[in-house]
Amino acid sequence: MLKKNKTMAALLVVTTVLLFLVASPVLAAVTGFVAVDEGGIYYKYPYDELLDSYALNILGEGNGLYEDYAKKEVYALKDDQSGYICYQDVLDRFAEAVTMGEKFNLNRYTESGEAGKAEMPQEIKLARFNDGSVVYSSIKTTPDNPPPDFDPPRTKTPIVGAAGATVEQAQKWAEKNDAHQRLIDIAPEYWSFGEKTGIRPEVLFVQAAHLTDFGHYSNGISPEYNNWAGILKKDAKGDDADGHESFDTPEEGVRAHFNHMAAYVGLKPIGEPHGRYQVITEQSWAGAVINIDELSGKWVSSEDYHLHILYLLSQIKNTEVEDKEEEKPGETEDRDLAEVKHVAVDVSEVTVLHLRSGPSTDHDILDRLVRGTVLEVVDSEGKWLKVITPKGKEGWVHGDYVRPIDLTKNPFKGKKVVIDPGHGGIDSGAIGITGLLEKELTLDVGERLQKMLEDAGATVIMTREGDRSTSNRTRVEVANDAKADVFVSIHANAYSNPDSNGTETFYCSQNSNRDFSKYLAQQLQRELITELGLRDRGVKTRSFYVLKETEMPSALVELAFLTNKDEEALLKKPETRAASAEALFRGLEAYLRKHR
Ligand SMILES: [Zn+2]
Repeated sequence: MLKKNKTMAALLVVTTVLLFLVASPVLAAVTGFVAVDEGGIYYKYPYDELLDSYALNILGEGNGLYEDYAKKEVYALKDDQSGYICYQDVLDRFAEAVTMGEKFNLNRYTESGEAGKAEMPQEIKLARFNDGSVVYSSIKTTPDNPPPDFDPPRTKTPIVGAAGATVEQAQKWAEKNDAHQRLIDIAPEYWSFGEKTGIRPEVLFVQAAHLTDFGHYSNGISPEYNNWAGILKKDAKGDDADGHESFDTPEEGVRAHFNHMAAYVGLKPIGEPHGRYQVITEQSWAGAVINIDELSGKWVSSEDYHLHILYLLSQIKNTEVEDKEEEKPGETEDRDLAEVKHVAVDVSEVTVLHLRSGPSTDHDILDRLVRGTVLEVVDSEGKWLKVITPKGKEGWVHGDYVRPIDLTKNPFKGKKVVIDPGHGGIDSGAIGITGLLEKELTLDVGERLQKMLEDAGATVIMTREGDRSTSNRTRVEVANDAKADVFVSIHANAYSNPDSNGTETFYCSQNSNRDFSKYLAQQLQRELITELGLRDRGVKTRSFYVLKETEMPSALVELAFLTNKDEEALLKKPETRAASAEALFRGLEAYLRKHR
């Protein structure tokens, strides 16, 4: 996703968009073109303002969806049917659509209500002026666009050579840029391949940062591909996710990245190269790309790609790190995994481990296992373990990517659970038929659950303490910053029909831990049905902001309907609230036993 606060305006160095906004109800037409020559008409809008003006129109007065645009705060916009949409969320999605040249339709965010009428322009393209011709292209914006005043080095910058920055500088730099942990974690692999190949690791590392939005992968390619460099498949048709190569591990992705560059600069690949390597070696310029300045138009179509890379390189080289003592390599115990009954997948947070049909990478991939998945070990061969997954699939995994676990251990110990009591402060949430406020109920149940979890040994983080207004963005940030293991949002339902009743639980299919989110939702829903005995409305998917953007498994429970007389009466009782907390506790316990 786009980060507005960084240098988005830099896009306007090459891109200016002219737009016509109509006053009401929403927008009519948008025309985009660029004129950068002296004689032409030159329309220039700060990019943020442009997007804001769209957002104002999307959420414009009269459709009742926003409360106070002028404050430019993040508002949770309530719609009983669709849940919550957030100004910032819509804005970001819209910006993403614009810059990717995709269609955007606000209907995606609502199922009913007036917002459904507010349709965004069907198609917007950004145009770039390139050697006198207007070129339409989808321009991927990244938060690291070079500022307009960036002065590239006078001399060309070679790709091959000794490392010009240390891995510590790279990691510190990545941290300062709010990189995802996965990018920080992979840095040493870049430096290791730098030594093996002679290619300067910092060059490829900033490429990875640039192409993955600092490891956040907000440009459409999902992290599970382990594709750090936007490498396409051998016969890729387009530039979409399907066309992108997928690698077994993050480390394999780094190897491919170096091999890919090797084809550019004329070095030999390390190990078996990926399919696209061959395609590159057939290009007229293959082996002749010596300097970073020549990557534009080759690595990606953008003509100023090298400026991004050079700009980021200048940052990384100027990153200061404190001297620290040389770490002594610890004694690596060779664990005898064959003796172990259970193991947990131990890959970085968002990458996957392949379950294969046999004990080598030559065998087919049967499944992709996320960090924490508990596997039963039934056999071993060399470094490979034959395992059974929680879903009952049998296959082989490599022993380097798992760690032994003891299933008799307290599943809460060492776990960070985020409890998100819905609503709060000026946002009361749903209002019960006799006046019970959702925000009061959710906090009470949340605090009860907090106590139980803490007593059981978990670390609990509340997204709000007391009766406070809290934006969805903040709720997500709290969870992501804490690197929590699991996120549970507590809500109660409301509907115009007073007969509507029952319990339901949501997860988001776009959450980066979709399978485990689903598993979590199932455990919570099952325990709630057992404890409360209300109608089982089931486990459902919905792209609520707090479920979509949380970087850990997450679920949202709707305990019961406040608009139903009987259920509201139940929810007023302390016993029902205690039972709700108990159910959530048990659901979390069941979940954590399978996922650690
Ligand atoms: Zn709610």
